Amino acid sequence: MRKPIIAGNWKMNKTVAEAKEFALAVKDNVPSKDVVDSVIGAPALDLAPLNCKLKDSDVQLAAQNCYWENAGAFTGETSPAALAALGVPYVIIGHSERREYFHETDEEINKKAKAIFANGMTPILCCGESLETYEAGKTAEWIEGQITADLADLSAEQVSSMVIAYEPIWAIGTGKSADANIADEICGVVRQTVAKLYGSEVADKVRIQYGGSVKPENIAEYMAKENVDGALVGGASLQADSFLALLDAV
Ligand code: 13P
Repeated sequence: MRKPIIAGNWKMNKTVAEAKEFALAVKDNVPSKDVVDSVIGAPALDLAPLNCKLKDSDVQLAAQNCYWENAGAFTGETSPAALAALGVPYVIIGHSERREYFHETDEEINKKAKAIFANGMTPILCCGESLETYEAGKTAEWIEGQITADLADLSAEQVSSMVIAYEPIWAIGTGKSADANIADEICGVVRQTVAKLYGSEVADKVRIQYGGSVKPENIAEYMAKENVDGALVGGASLQADSFLALLDAV
């Protein structure tokens, strides 16, 4: 049985003061982490203060990115070792916004995945196709290509423990969420790709999220699907009451 994982991705939103206010509003109101993983993907600056506020709660943190080296002359980057030292359990990598606006490649994303595991954290690896690819009916082959490249040389044990988020680019921030059957089908393609690369035991363990215009009103439709183990949520994770409503619906 795969434990559900609901992760908010705040993207580049919230000052430290706003993040603290959110933490106070949610910290005693999320379900036990024995039942569901409740995760907030916060900007790097917010992680340390959030960590203080959420220390004894069931809310877990995710960074939205990191570099693949632990330290050195890499101005402006975030060290995975520093995130691990803070006690951050998850790092989101390969989000389509990073691939598009910051030109991140599969090779770089793969290096980040390895660095995250080397530091004892868990990657939330994002994949997803453009509207053009979707309309051309090439989603499955696109996803298979991304996943295969991003997971290169990871061990079966590592892949079993990770989270993969399927986020069709055309559904992100548009209010046009993917039909739950399509989300299930493509999350199934992610699982089949993992099965092809690592075998069915690993594919049964890896947790797969759907992301793209998920909100409290539609999350249950996705969570009811066999291949969907959680959601990665942008806009609807920014308000404390909406974040809690997402968790309530699970
Ligand atoms: P929205 O939920 O705002 O569509 O964003 C999805 C997303 O990109 C989460 O990573």
